Amino acid sequence: MKAVYMERHGGPEVLTYGEVQEPQVGPSDVRIRVRACALNRLDLYMRAGIRGTTINFDGPHVLGADVSGEIVGMGDSVIGLEIGMRVLVNPRGTCMQCSHCLAGTTEFCSRATMVGSKAFGGYAEYLIVPSTSVHQIPDTLDFVQAASLPTVFMPSWNILVRTAQLKSWETVLVPSASSGVGTAAIQVARNISGATVIASTSTEEKMKKALDIGANYVVNYRDENLGDRIKDLTNGKGVDVVIDHVGTDLWNAVNRSLALGARYGICGVTSGYRAELQMGAMFTRYLTMFGVFMGRPEDLRQIIHYAGIGSLQGIVHATYPLEDARKAHEDMEALNFFGKLVLTVE
Ligand SMILES: [Zn+2]
Repeated sequence: MKAVYMERHGGPEVLTYGEVQEPQVGPSDVRIRVRACALNRLDLYMRAGIRGTTINFDGPHVLGADVSGEIVGMGDSVIGLEIGMRVLVNPRGTCMQCSHCLAGTTEFCSRATMVGSKAFGGYAEYLIVPSTSVHQIPDTLDFVQAASLPTVFMPSWNILVRTAQLKSWETVLVPSASSGVGTAAIQVARNISGATVIASTSTEEKMKKALDIGANYVVNYRDENLGDRIKDLTNGKGVDVVIDHVGTDLWNAVNRSLALGARYGICGVTSGYRAELQMGAMFTRYLTMFGVFMGRPEDLRQIIHYAGIGSLQGIVHATYPLEDARKAHEDMEALNFFGKLVLTVE
């Protein structure tokens, strides 16, 4: 099959478009004709081999976690799915057999895998995944929209809706509003929880776009002190919930601008992963800090439903044909985008 593969770590130049051997379909797998695959920052880390993503190359590797397409084949023991079904892949595969998976707390599955991590991902014509990893998508959801959902909406849903239980009368901070998680979190907070959203970003243009997708207030963190602005906008109270995918820089800027009872959820540390914690404030101010990595299948099912009726929307900055994956990586590294970059496969 045609794919964009890599045989060593490095810059965008290690991505090559060509033929690779397609993996076998196991008895409980489905074979998907890929139609769209969204890029994630994890793809850049894995390409470079940084942040604990070293790959043991014993052949070509194909990246790509967020994949949509049509089912074109399946193993003998697959039930409940049909050839031709339009599906979205949950990038995080879990065993569905261990005590955690059986209890529904799939995030603790010790056998969990990510699509495009060890097995081949979606920068290809075809993708083989366990049948338990696919969700049918409604006709109202196109493939590019669908592929732009999982990796940014699942942690957003997990942090804001399921874990923090964000309420309509509360205020949430969404940093880096132009990133994939930022664009997802603004919508989940506004359109699902009905909360007030303070977003932060770095340029006039990005500020306007953040307002367009639902932020109530946007702070340009280059021009203004984010912590002080939060205090101003909340009458000194601070924010009730933070969805932090930034790490060190954000914690340093806002840890004194958290409301009593604030919940601080972390799903990424792009600016650094060390922080000084004021333990006293944790108990006197009833603060909760927690981390999430993606979410549960049930989260994705709900995200697909709300995307299908238009309450949530994947914000797509640009699409590229599969063979231009290298260009897409270069653009993502240049940080000059608002929303997702998505590869399409004809
Ligand atoms: Zn499991």
